Amino acid sequence: MHELSLACSLIEEAEKVLETENAERAIRLTVGIGQFAGIETDAFEFAFPMAAEGTKLEKAAMTIEEIPATVRCRACGKESNPAFPRCACAHCDSDDTEMLHGREFIIKSMEIE
Ligand SMILES: [Zn+2]
Repeated sequence: MHELSLACSLIEEAEKVLETENAERAIRLTVGIGQFAGIETDAFEFAFPMAAEGTKLEKAAMTIEEIPATVRCRACGKESNPAFPRCACAHCDSDDTEMLHGREFIIKSMEIE
């Protein structure tokens, strides 16, 4: 499962932070997932506890924050939130857009002790 390996790499990243902070464990973790990141949030939620087992994040409460897509249009120069799953400009419907947000897969915040 794609989401399981993503959860594993996220936990690896989180454990590095815990180590740097000299923390014993994570209590709460907020993960930011972009609309266009290609990650199934349900599957990620399901995979997270499996990946966290035996790590310092084992008992952490994980919350997903979905990050909506934002594109900048090369045709009209405006920024808009495209209608997922298309990434066309919401103003002029041009497909010539640059994605500013929506592909994120990040640790937004983490509560540690
Ligand atoms: Zn446009």
